[in-house]
Amino acid sequence: MCRVALKRCAAICIALSCAAAYGERFIVKDGKAQAEIIVAENPPRMTKLAARELQKYVEKISGAGPAIVREPSGTVPNKVYVGRSLFTDDLGIEVDGLEHGAFRMVSGKDWLVLIGHDEDFVPVEPWARNHGDWTRNKIRKWDKMTGAKWSNPLAAGMYRFHHKELGIWRLDKRGSLNAVYAFLRGLGVRWYMPGDLGEIVPRAATIALPDVDKIVRPDFDVRTMCFDRYHVANADHVLYALRLGTNRVFSVMHHGIRHITERQDQKEAHLDYYQVLAGKRATEGRKANACLSSEGLFKENVRFVRTIFDLYDAPIVSVMPNDGFTNICQCSECRDQATLDRGYSGWYSDYVWGYVCRVANEVAKTHPNKKIMCGAYSTYQLPPLKIEKLPPNVLVQITNGMPRYEMDDETHRRLAELRQAWSAKTPNKLSVSMNYPFTQRGEFRPCYFPHVIARALRDVKGRVWRADLWIPEKRGLHEPGVNHLNAWVLGRFLWDADRDVGALLAEYYRLYYGPAEKEMKAFIEYCEANFAELATSKEKVSRALDLFQAAQEQAEPDSVYGKRIALVDAYLNDLRNRRDQLNKGRGPVPEFRAFNFANSKWDKAKKTFKLDGKLDEPFWNMRGGLRDLITGAKPVFGTRFNVLIDRNAVYFGILCRDRERDPANIAATKDGDPAMWTGDHIEILIETDAHSYYQIVVNPAAAVLDLDRGTSKRHWFQWASKAEVGAHVGEDFWSLEVRIPFTEDAADPLHLVVGRKPTANLPWHFNLCRKRIRDRSVEVSAFSPTGGNKGFHDLMKFGKLYSK
Ligand SMILES: [Zn+2]
Repeated sequence: MCRVALKRCAAICIALSCAAAYGERFIVKDGKAQAEIIVAENPPRMTKLAARELQKYVEKISGAGPAIVREPSGTVPNKVYVGRSLFTDDLGIEVDGLEHGAFRMVSGKDWLVLIGHDEDFVPVEPWARNHGDWTRNKIRKWDKMTGAKWSNPLAAGMYRFHHKELGIWRLDKRGSLNAVYAFLRGLGVRWYMPGDLGEIVPRAATIALPDVDKIVRPDFDVRTMCFDRYHVANADHVLYALRLGTNRVFSVMHHGIRHITERQDQKEAHLDYYQVLAGKRATEGRKANACLSSEGLFKENVRFVRTIFDLYDAPIVSVMPNDGFTNICQCSECRDQATLDRGYSGWYSDYVWGYVCRVANEVAKTHPNKKIMCGAYSTYQLPPLKIEKLPPNVLVQITNGMPRYEMDDETHRRLAELRQAWSAKTPNKLSVSMNYPFTQRGEFRPCYFPHVIARALRDVKGRVWRADLWIPEKRGLHEPGVNHLNAWVLGRFLWDADRDVGALLAEYYRLYYGPAEKEMKAFIEYCEANFAELATSKEKVSRALDLFQAAQEQAEPDSVYGKRIALVDAYLNDLRNRRDQLNKGRGPVPEFRAFNFANSKWDKAKKTFKLDGKLDEPFWNMRGGLRDLITGAKPVFGTRFNVLIDRNAVYFGILCRDRERDPANIAATKDGDPAMWTGDHIEILIETDAHSYYQIVVNPAAAVLDLDRGTSKRHWFQWASKAEVGAHVGEDFWSLEVRIPFTEDAADPLHLVVGRKPTANLPWHFNLCRKRIRDRSVEVSAFSPTGGNKGFHDLMKFGKLYSK
């Protein structure tokens, strides 16, 4: 609750004309300081920063910065006490009860107090001083302490929570700083975007000492934004996050089970902790997942959680499967716990949450006041059916538990139902984590969602205690010229969800865009209302760009407004490319109508379907063929294929004719080995209704290499399709059966093809290509020949793929 002890007009009363109540009381008068800033003898780091920020902005406004002192010097009549000190104690002003960054602003005859709970964070040993310090040195101490083989990302990454230049730690408590920022906002200062270009500072020679007494509490206890990376972000971006009023809770978050399972020495010691897949314990990769029926894993997990609680006095520890949890362990105890009839979002809900509750109940015996947290995420997003109530020490975090960019009532209602369903399972408030569209992962649309954010936070206020917000970041806020609006609106509404978004934005457009106020409002609101269609509609893309151009014409390029608009202009280049691409259109491309594998006529054949690459099932009626990539002629070595589309997966059967006794040139046998490209391989390129595009490379040894080509090159290989492949090499051919799962749930951009089942009206586009490589000859063929200009990668030549 945002409780305001005295009149809500306090902010307005700070305005310069209002000093009359106490007579002559000024912080600055006619450009001369009339007050000092007083802090304690040895104040916490954030109190010092608060004093410096106050001094800096008072000087920016008035030209006179008050001195920062430890006690009143008697040379000026008034005092501004920042943070707790003997003086505030004498005045009887308490900080007790000012939790989660709450603050108090109170004034008297010749003083003003800006105060909250400030406390220095103290890292606990052993912790890494730099990258590499953990694995080189500290991990040995940790292993000795625990007698286990656990990772500890908190300690390993501790140095990342420290900002050298500002001399602060990310977990420093900082209520007084929030008070200072609120006071400065009252004077008209605005921090819309990181850096000088993003701020508004009014000018005034006189600043009154206000008549005020109020306590302000945030509507959400924890307000985390990902972009304040203390170890790499520059000071502007970190200060911006502070000015937004963000904070964090100290804990081990996200995919907590991985801390037990990800180390190689653990894999070697305890094979039984890991999933059985394809008949064996699967331990490959950092994202190897666990067998949640393993008694050994359970015991270690409980011990891990207790260790973190005791060592760090942490309030919360995550118990959650590792990322990419799309398969369930096939051991006899796990496999029947899947509830596949609930659909992707509920496949493993009972299985995962059953485990979480077991750990929570065990831990509660020794640590009843600490909390276990798990995400409602991917295949366990829906609440479990068999668990009526979660234990009181379990916290639920819903990934994308609020609308991100959807303005329609249906989406808001659906997510409210999901939250409601979870709230019915737990006495605790919920946590939501939000992945806003990632501008550095291939997103080209202008991302402005102020109304969606305002509506969502108003709806969840009082029911959500923590918002964990993933806004595009790259050493600070990514593309700040665009992304600042969401960050800033989030910051304002996390503190006060009931404010008027229309009034807030009206002021923003006026102050930030000046002469282009009206035009930028029209552009931004158009983008917000039409976000989804900006991916596909050339009319909407053109309209958005026209609106922007009108705004551009209003502001002088050299003015601050022109510079702010130029940042948006640079970002819009990809949208302009998209417009050109849409204008060109695809032209005539070949179509492929896949078999509808969900049709009951395949039920019987599905039951005995083995993904062994042999193509001996009745549905492998190879109706498609490949042609020479450049000429479109019949290739020397023919390739036939068929495609099946089920509710959650698409299957490719591919038969590659080749030379007798030398049917396949296998260059790699391991998944992810780029050497595959130097031997025979197939490339499946897929653009879905939701994403453009994925590249899945498969070879005759059933090795897979998968790339998300919709992102920047640096991120291509981070994506995993989770495709399953069976390969068979015959006398004069090799053949493949490939199962590629897909999901409509875009919450996890690093796994699975994201898209809706393709239909004639909303098809996917694809190309299926083969490269045959022998000593001196290379033959390239494709379902849709591209003419060779861009190799296989000519998006405009992709053929249509759909099923009935
Ligand atoms: Zn198992």
